[in-house]
Amino acid sequence: MSARRRLLALGAVLLLLPGCGASFVDTFAAERSAVPQEPAAPPSDGDCAQRAEPDPDRPVVELDLRLDDDLRTVTGTESVVFTPDLPTDELVFRLVPNGSRPAAAGNRLVVDAARGDDVAGSGYEDAGAEGPGGLFVVRLDGELAAGEATEVALDFTLALGQGGFERVGAADGVSWWASGAPLLAWEPGVGWARDPFVDVPGETATSPVADTTVAVSAPEALTVLMTGDQAEPSAPQDGRRTWTSVEPVARDVSVAVGEFDTASATGDGGVEVTTGVLPGADVAARELTAWTLTAIDQLEARFGPFPYATLTVPLLADDGGGIEYPSSILLAGADRLVLLHEVAHMWFYGMVGDSQFRDPWLDEAFATYAESVASPVSADDAARVLGTPGDVGAAMDQFDTAAGYFRRVYGKGGAALVTAREAAGAEAFDAALRCYVDANAWTIATPDDVARALADLPAALDVLTGAGALDEDDLPG
Ligand SMILES: [Zn+2]
Repeated sequence: MSARRRLLALGAVLLLLPGCGASFVDTFAAERSAVPQEPAAPPSDGDCAQRAEPDPDRPVVELDLRLDDDLRTVTGTESVVFTPDLPTDELVFRLVPNGSRPAAAGNRLVVDAARGDDVAGSGYEDAGAEGPGGLFVVRLDGELAAGEATEVALDFTLALGQGGFERVGAADGVSWWASGAPLLAWEPGVGWARDPFVDVPGETATSPVADTTVAVSAPEALTVLMTGDQAEPSAPQDGRRTWTSVEPVARDVSVAVGEFDTASATGDGGVEVTTGVLPGADVAARELTAWTLTAIDQLEARFGPFPYATLTVPLLADDGGGIEYPSSILLAGADRLVLLHEVAHMWFYGMVGDSQFRDPWLDEAFATYAESVASPVSADDAARVLGTPGDVGAAMDQFDTAAGYFRRVYGKGGAALVTAREAAGAEAFDAALRCYVDANAWTIATPDDVARALADLPAALDVLTGAGALDEDDLPG
């Protein structure tokens, strides 16, 4: 996620360099011609020949959602077919709305029933959240072996609070909920993620990609923009329409329902972008779509093909920044650099997943670094920000304040990657990062994976180790 205020605060030191004469690219080119470089080593990792396919045994999730006429209540059923890669006797779901300062915003997610042939019982766990609890645990009547599937269905009710810009909320003419359904908290190869919620406003969830279908029933006058490739809505019936989407590789789902004026366009690479703006918005939908397509082009040039077939961008009424979801972005405030940051998250978080609690830099430092494709950063500015105290690679419970978290994970983390690229040589670094992206597509990556991808670029590893993004244990060999 990001917030305009936060980005401007960082921008003063890292991102926005008004009056900067030479671009980062120019600066680097000049330095490279002055300092002889080792020829770029060809990537040694055979995994990067092509992008990895998602796990064929990944969860299959069906969400059937209904926005009530009050525009403040969502009732739903979530069906999950889950096939663990390690034995387990339970399913753990993260109830994100209960951890997002619900007392202030009025957000609340309640599980009304848990059903399934193997279900023996269920209950909440606290995990530092308010309301009924931060986790919902479904106990199975026996152990599920690795590779053995079970099917569970949860009925739930989500109350949309009214507050500032949050993951779920409602305002005049628009309701939205992202991470609004119980989120299957499985980390393949590791197990259930029971990480506590924290006060710092950042994500703390870990979730695998799932083959996901979504159906949303909403009052007929409203338009739905959500995660996944959307079909045309159903014909109105009893004053409502049903909107459906399919996303075969969604870690999570975002839905926005409102009086959107929309504009769709398909980019050169075939990605279909649909944006929506509310009456009186600062920007027209057509313009917002053009910005989004430009951001995709800029990022594809650096990181390779866009991960999804579609991208939706609903622009909400509030100011506040943006929050990334698989193939959908909740944007609050028409800010192009924030938009670019959130589009970059489609690679770093959406496709290359991470534990957002344990390794938040794997998505936030990379998305901040990605802003440099449009907003170049000088080596001097990067070096100054790199002097920020503390480890880039800290977990979410290691930060006392939001400002400290943003300065270190976004600012220092982004600066470390800019500096690592300069130290290793842009061409070799970009090739290695593409290799990292493709080799770790649709998984939950770790700092080890970054270190492995950069194994032939010791200068880059030195920078990232010095910044506390990687530690000695992560280094190859
Ligand atoms: Zn972000």
